[in-house]
Amino acid sequence: MPTLRELDAVFIGRCGAKAPGSFHELGDAFTPEVQGLLFYCPLHHDPVKGHTHCIVVWFAGRGVPDNAEPKTRWGASGTSLDDLTLQPSINLDVPWVHPDTQVRYPSSCKWHGFITKGVAT
Ligand SMILES: [Zn+2]
Repeated sequence: MPTLRELDAVFIGRCGAKAPGSFHELGDAFTPEVQGLLFYCPLHHDPVKGHTHCIVVWFAGRGVPDNAEPKTRWGASGTSLDDLTLQPSINLDVPWVHPDTQVRYPSSCKWHGFITKGVAT
């Protein structure tokens, strides 16, 4: 399975109230400023064809606003991209529900896995 570095992962922090939903990249060390992680999907990671789509996760206890999507807050431990472990698992296979019609649309990505010691499993 690919490592976080192979997935071009980077730690991120939010840009603040002026740009809700946006974030900036903070590098590969798990510093006090880090609030989350950005990486390419391990399931759709292809060394030949390249990456397809990104995944953003926000960490618990890092001052991330309650309304930041996705709403799950992951417990993160480690010192860098090379030993990062996240709990619980990350499940992208969640249907999207249209807010007006309540119609459920299946997720385009079915990845459900873990980040353990810097590796996506
Ligand atoms: Zn995917």
